[in-house]
Amino acid sequence: MRTDFDTELEDRLVRYAKIDSQSDGHSASVPSTKIQLDMSRLLMDELKAMGAQDVTLSQDSVVLATIPATQSVDAPVMGWLAHVDTAPQFNATGVKPVVHRGYNGGDISFADAPDLRLSPEEYPFLSEKVGEDIITASGTTLLGADDKAGVAVVMTAARHLLDNPDIAHGKIRLAFVPDEEIGRGVTPNLPADLGADFAYTFDGSTPGDVEYESFSADAGVVKITGVSIHPGWAKDELVNALHLGAKVLMTLPHVTMTPETTEGREGFIHAVSMTGSAAEVEMHFILRDFEMEGLEAKGALLRQVCETVAATEPRARITCDITHQYRNMRYWLEKDMTPVDMALAAVRKAGMEPVSGAIRGGTDGSRLTEFGTPCPNIFCGMQNVHGPLEWVSVQDMAKATLVALNLASSVAELDAPAG
Ligand SMILES: [Zn+2]
Repeated sequence: MRTDFDTELEDRLVRYAKIDSQSDGHSASVPSTKIQLDMSRLLMDELKAMGAQDVTLSQDSVVLATIPATQSVDAPVMGWLAHVDTAPQFNATGVKPVVHRGYNGGDISFADAPDLRLSPEEYPFLSEKVGEDIITASGTTLLGADDKAGVAVVMTAARHLLDNPDIAHGKIRLAFVPDEEIGRGVTPNLPADLGADFAYTFDGSTPGDVEYESFSADAGVVKITGVSIHPGWAKDELVNALHLGAKVLMTLPHVTMTPETTEGREGFIHAVSMTGSAAEVEMHFILRDFEMEGLEAKGALLRQVCETVAATEPRARITCDITHQYRNMRYWLEKDMTPVDMALAAVRKAGMEPVSGAIRGGTDGSRLTEFGTPCPNIFCGMQNVHGPLEWVSVQDMAKATLVALNLASSVAELDAPAG
């Protein structure tokens, strides 16, 4: 069952997964954690060693590199992206990748967490993987296949093209981005730094997945200032911000419009945090919808709820600020579906039926597309991400590598854009 790229992909995934490169949304630095640079520097060394050109670390800590076009190919410039950080939601320190070679179809157990089971009954896709090589962590950490599987795929495809100059392809630009998991990987500088006509993130799950729809996303911050007075003398004077915060939460449609009560194409308002005291409360929300109108309506609803609660207590001050996070990439991609169509064709050519679902989240490609570089998302094999049951099949990573190489060949047949 071993395919041409399996040994290299397995080796890369195991090596990269051991490096702790977890991001941290509470840090204001760039990248959010210095440890991400351990991954970035390793990739720079490996890219130079394999003969990639223009290997640099950008002002935003993005590793950039070029695979030059083969002679006589004048095609559009394609970008390949993956992110070096892993999710902050679960322990990512001391990852011990375990290769379950020739998976036997049974439950997978974990050396460091005897009660933990990865079972094909609970995760049916695993039952299709009998005979393949499955990589997990050891039970106490995530694996980080999100997105080290994507990194391994891009690095392997790049190495293969650099080693085989007889494969005709246009110029390909690589970008390894920090801080994707906290939504700060792509800055407005990236389109110019990348210099690609279009690009792909390798940050999706199951073989065949090509995603070009993501949520549109805003963030809401509600600040409540009450009136703080010694409780012994508080009669008719104290205004407790905590009670008003609770009122805001209870007035929102919390049994119909939350992440835990919605699915498919439904949007939501999610209360992320509520901190403070009787004097002052700060609440953070995220607002999500696939359509702009739906997103605007959710922002209007949050504002209206704040105004309604404020009207019950004129001595309190309640503010509601809504800020832009990212937008559904479909709005831009549907104007020119060429990058999407090419990805679908590359998947078919690799022997899979493409599946295009709407991502209930955002990708680096959502922001990159909005900033001007069309960027759908392609699978790289990761499963059960952000927790101890995360796994990836080496053979699924090989399928993603094949898709990348198919894209390289098909772009070579396109004409470079004029100008
Ligand atoms: Zn990811």
